[in-house]
Amino acid sequence: KVADGSMLYLDGVTVSFDGFKALNSLSMIIKPGEMRAIIGPNGAGKTTMMDVITGKTRPDLGDVLFDGGVDLTKHDEAAIASMGIGRKFQKPTVFESHSVYDNLILALKQNRTARATLFAMTGKADEDRINELLELTRLTAQRDLLAANLSHGQKQWLEIGMLLAQDPRLLLVDEPAAGMTDAETAETAVLLKEIAKSHSVVVVEHDMDFVRDLDVRVTVLHEGSVLAEGTLDQVSSNDRVIEVYLGR
Ligand code: ADP
Repeated sequence: KVADGSMLYLDGVTVSFDGFKALNSLSMIIKPGEMRAIIGPNGAGKTTMMDVITGKTRPDLGDVLFDGGVDLTKHDEAAIASMGIGRKFQKPTVFESHSVYDNLILALKQNRTARATLFAMTGKADEDRINELLELTRLTAQRDLLAANLSHGQKQWLEIGMLLAQDPRLLLVDEPAAGMTDAETAETAVLLKEIAKSHSVVVVEHDMDFVRDLDVRVTVLHEGSVLAEGTLDQVSSNDRVIEVYLGR
């Protein structure tokens, strides 16, 4: 099978809204353990692509295969999330009136059965996992703070930690550095690189300095399909990319 060995396989994916093609025969392969940056002008189809992968939007045409063969077009959002695809939207949605620790515990327990959650004590394995996540997301010292008291950047990191608590294999991240300070932006690139050691990651991003820091393969979308793919240096010297995106 052609999708063998891929974490995510898109082929000929087309999505129309009233005859307008938001995605127009989009094809892309993300390998296990790969981090990929998706860039492109407004309206290029980046959000629609994420919506198709997560089951929010069903394509009119094309294949969307996960982990070498699971046909994602046949499943709904909840089923796809439980298969191990986590999505982080631009705006953090943490529980502001709960501590950092409680946010992570809630996320950790979210994918267990309601009954198990109700009666489960927090065991040592959970504690260890939370401590790992606190360290990874640079929030060990903020463990007992209310999430409301975190900086914008720290809230983004907490939400990434909450996604990781659910053990996804593929993480979709929408503009993680938006609204962050320069220091937080640089730290976020390091954090994502650490996560990419054990996950496939797709990052939609506008900030080219941040994409440079990520140091990953870049896909440029334009009018619903792939305009260019390669290193940031390769795609940013492509004449069409300069014309439709970078040159403006
Ligand atoms: P991006 O995220 O790259 O800015 P989008 O995926 O949001 O691009 O949008 C791609 C195109 O599809 C845009 O022209 C947008 O207006 C259109 N579009 C997206 N969602 C809808 C929708 N629900 N109904 C109609 N048009 C839509």
